[in-house]
Amino acid sequence: MDLAQLGPAGAIVTGGASGLGAATAAHLAAKGMTVTAFDLASGIEKMQQAGQAHPDVTYVAVDVTDEQAVQAAVEEAAGRAPLRVAVNCAGICPSARIVGRKGVHDGGLFATTITVNLVGTFHVLAHAAASMAGNEPVDEDGQRGVIVNTASVAAFEGQVGQAAYAASKGGVHSLTISAARDLSSQGIRVNSIAPGVVWTPMMEAINEDFRNELEARVPFPARFAKPEEFAALVGSLVENDYLNGETIRLDGGLRMPPR
Ligand code: NAD
Repeated sequence: MDLAQLGPAGAIVTGGASGLGAATAAHLAAKGMTVTAFDLASGIEKMQQAGQAHPDVTYVAVDVTDEQAVQAAVEEAAGRAPLRVAVNCAGICPSARIVGRKGVHDGGLFATTITVNLVGTFHVLAHAAASMAGNEPVDEDGQRGVIVNTASVAAFEGQVGQAAYAASKGGVHSLTISAARDLSSQGIRVNSIAPGVVWTPMMEAINEDFRNELEARVPFPARFAKPEEFAALVGSLVENDYLNGETIRLDGGLRMPPR
């Protein structure tokens, strides 16, 4: 899909009030798309208080784990402009060992992580796809829309303390090919991006020593990725009509060690 030709068509970006989602929302808005960002009310408030809300993006408070709220918000976004792009960036990254100093891993924390990162992604993917399926195709291939999910290199190399996060992102990776196959008859492509380390508010809690250590592990370039580099890859995934069912690592060659 040529972003320039899509013009004001609709795009949804979850987690759009921070980090990768905010950069993606800005990227798609700059390409002329009608962008609706889904995020928690608290996330949107934080962004607005920091004066970082994008003037061309509509922010809608929606918890991606609430399927009814997702359905209503997708319909609202599609009412603004026919939906062609949906990008799942909403996520959480808790850390706990399965048997740690404080005892056994909290099963509730495990379930919450799967619910936000995997089930939330599924709700948005499914309802966005249902909306896209009702649109006219944009090209001779019969293409109607593109969905991009966010996995993580933790899907493949979960580190110590990342059991819940790695399992949730492994689920996003596994969902990708199945969703692409399911939605092929509707002309909807599905891909995922597995970032390595990107400098976003999710990462800002780490101390400088750990930051330096992480950067030194990246073969090249030896730094964190910029959120804009993630957003640019989303744009490439939308524009390249033959990319489908794939999880693409965006990691500077990083392979995570056990800890
Ligand atoms: P971030 O914390 O800056 O942004 C995540 C956003 O998701 C926040 O605005 C938050 O409010 C929102 N969110 C959380 N739970 C939600 C819910 N239930 N409903 C709606 N919104 C919700 O983090 P980020 O670094 O931009 O991460 C974006 C995605 O990229 C996440 O899925 C994360 O796991 C993934 N990722 C990030 C990195 C990295 O290094 N930053 C690496 C690999 C993968």
